[in-house]
Amino acid sequence: MNLILLGPPGAGKGTQAASLIEKYSIPQISTGDILRKAVKEKTSLGIKAKSYMNSGNLVPDDVVVGIIKDRLAEADCSKGFILDGFPRTIVQAEKLDEMLTAEDKKIDKVLNVAVEDEVLIKRLTGRRICKDCGIGFHVIFAPPTNEGICDKCSGELFQRDDDEEDTIISRLGVYKNQTSPLIDFYTRKGILASIQGNNAVDKIFSDMCEAIEGSMVDNS
Ligand code: AMP
Repeated sequence: MNLILLGPPGAGKGTQAASLIEKYSIPQISTGDILRKAVKEKTSLGIKAKSYMNSGNLVPDDVVVGIIKDRLAEADCSKGFILDGFPRTIVQAEKLDEMLTAEDKKIDKVLNVAVEDEVLIKRLTGRRICKDCGIGFHVIFAPPTNEGICDKCSGELFQRDDDEEDTIISRLGVYKNQTSPLIDFYTRKGILASIQGNNAVDKIFSDMCEAIEGSMVDNS
């Protein structure tokens, strides 16, 4: 099962990916996570990507397409994968199609998670992440027991540089201009499912499973 999670920043793609990994035993590939790791480790990729990320802009297509090409070639992707945060432009989507066609593979379903801007801004400005284990909290919706401290491992919580309000607004603009055209792109291919991202986390997950299982039946 090859899936794409599409939707603006803060739509809850990462949260849902964690449940999908467990249910379908396929890996999540988050270009954002790969890039953040590279920035943290100060690799040449990270040095190149940092200024784009901190300003809320997209890293150039050729850079992220290269990352995905290498990652999809790894053994754990042979039975399927969940793309989270890729593709983000039409060029990336076309390159992905080329890559998969060459391997006789295809995307089975694109899950498009829709959430209004005001909700996204509230979610993203309050988001906090553990420096040590990477678990996410929210200052209002999912606060830790002790402020600034991870409930699971007692690590320090931090706010992503690109979760500051000004950067969020530019990320949402970038999403509208460069990424939302993918909704039409995948609708035309007949593989897009729209998921209401304002619902409770469990309901969103069951809607996703229903859409995925519907596509499994379609393919049989
Ligand atoms: P995310 O964690 O998915 O919100 O990604 C964080 C940042 O990483 C984005 O704002 C971009 O700067 C960069 N990024 C992640 N995925 C991509 C992509 N597919 N294309 C271009 N830039 C990306």
